[in-house]
Amino acid sequence: PRTHIAVLGGGISGLSVAWYLARISPPNVAITLLEGSKRTGGWLHSDRINDPLHPDGSLLLERGPRSLRPQGVSGLNTLEMTKLLGLERDLELVPKTSLAAKNRYIYSHGKLHMLPSSLSGALTHPLLAPKLVRAGLDLVKGSSKEDDESIESFVTRRFGKGMSDDLISAMVHGIYAGDVSKLSVRSTFGMLYHLEKEYGSVILGLLMGKGSVETPWDQLLKERILKGMPELKTFDENVSIYSFKDGLETLSKALEKDLRDSGRISIHLDSPVEKMDFNHSNKTVKISIKDQEPVQADMVISAITPRQLYNLLPHSHSELIHNPSVAVAVVNMIYRADQARLASPGFGYLIPKSENSAVNHQGLLGVVFDSCSAPTQDQGSSQGQTLKLTAMMGGHMFDDVVAQSSVHDTDDDSGMTMIKSSDKMTNSNGREQALKSFFEKAAKDAVKRHLQIDSPPEIVKVHIHRECIPQYLVGHLQRMQKLDEQLRKEYDGMLAVTGAGYLGVSVNDCIKNSREVAEAIVSKLEEE
Ligand code: FAD
Repeated sequence: PRTHIAVLGGGISGLSVAWYLARISPPNVAITLLEGSKRTGGWLHSDRINDPLHPDGSLLLERGPRSLRPQGVSGLNTLEMTKLLGLERDLELVPKTSLAAKNRYIYSHGKLHMLPSSLSGALTHPLLAPKLVRAGLDLVKGSSKEDDESIESFVTRRFGKGMSDDLISAMVHGIYAGDVSKLSVRSTFGMLYHLEKEYGSVILGLLMGKGSVETPWDQLLKERILKGMPELKTFDENVSIYSFKDGLETLSKALEKDLRDSGRISIHLDSPVEKMDFNHSNKTVKISIKDQEPVQADMVISAITPRQLYNLLPHSHSELIHNPSVAVAVVNMIYRADQARLASPGFGYLIPKSENSAVNHQGLLGVVFDSCSAPTQDQGSSQGQTLKLTAMMGGHMFDDVVAQSSVHDTDDDSGMTMIKSSDKMTNSNGREQALKSFFEKAAKDAVKRHLQIDSPPEIVKVHIHRECIPQYLVGHLQRMQKLDEQLRKEYDGMLAVTGAGYLGVSVNDCIKNSREVAEAIVSKLEEE
């Protein structure tokens, strides 16, 4: 008999789960992907725009994610996918020897500080050396009995407050746009948590070379990939990060094309799912879609955010709405290379908690030096002629920063219920525009102050992404285990979940977790 699986959401998670299913499921499995918007890719969104100064050139701008790490089993897994999709020639690699790999900065006390890349560098580093004495206590301090705690509490307990405020908080801004005092150490820096539990000391565990947390499935996956593609091992050794010549969206576009070419799947764009009805007696799900006929499936894989899923389910699962997601303003800035130069080239810089960014830097999380970290994405005579920077702003500070800005005061949309809808639209568009102008000015000011770049950018693009990065609050993993049990019990195997809201926000994690979900479903189908 035929089995019909519906995938909700065509971001990288939904595309990946559909792609793995199409590769490994038996031919009697039909797959439908339902994407609410007019395109697939979700946050992966790369724009190629004309260069006003070089008519035969073009510039590449990333709205969302811009780089992938080849390290670890999830890194290896994405590389394998890239190779199977035939994208090797499109890769833009950043070798470990390049400045973008070696030079990463933290902005603190009015200047950029390069992060050390070795232990001897750390011992003599002006920001870190004073903290390392205190950090040595990690070797003698006992383990906590807690199941989870915030990153700040863990790092402060083991290494002192300075290490959290001045260093780790900056990394958390770079990955989660989040607040160290709120996020779960176990779900975000699982390695630190496990080293303490197993060795009683993070440093000791690291010295013993135990720097990763891999599940038995992860270890098997690694062996399977390296058996088929042993050459991928060299990526981890030589490459710091990578992207594609046409940006990260190359990956989601290639997945969509491969899926369409395979003939195994039907992809429906512009199909927002509004409701799901689970029929337990004949084990089918009726999926209602806005302005369209409903779709009937034997099972659903949700690759939308947990909050979006919450609204579609018949039962309330509070675990799905426990975590907030933060908003990020992404500001791409293009300067002329002959007018603007980086005194300190590298990957970019991050702002730590100790800088009190919400007050002093209008919510700046960090700035990526795109022209250093992805130097060949611009094409034609534009290549090498621009300084391209991206400021990431807001995150956990977004609401506070907006509340402090004049945008809130002058364009308050409270009491608008009486206004007719077209006016409401104009008003909210006006507010969005005012917000964009606010973040544009804030990003330009920050770059001017922090990098001493006085000439204005030639082009600026601002995108405000609402609810774009989920925040794994303390206790997240335990909640996810509980959710997993509930979903199994309530939906009889008719519902599975994947996506950035559950077990990792990076593109690599989204892809690897989607693979695990697809493999589990297929082995269950084979058992039946
Ligand atoms: P999404 O991309 O959110 O996809 C979900 C999809 O579901 C969307 O297409 C949406 O339209 C659709 N959908 C929603 N509701 C419905 C519905 N009811 N019916 C049908 N469809 C629906 N990661 C990295 O590894 N490296 C980076 O450099 C990096 N930088 C980042 C920078 C920014 C600014 C952001 C926002 C994220 C960054 N990330 C990075 C994280 C990573 O990009 C995301 O976590 C990941 O892309 C999430 O993918 P997803 O498929 O799980 O979710």
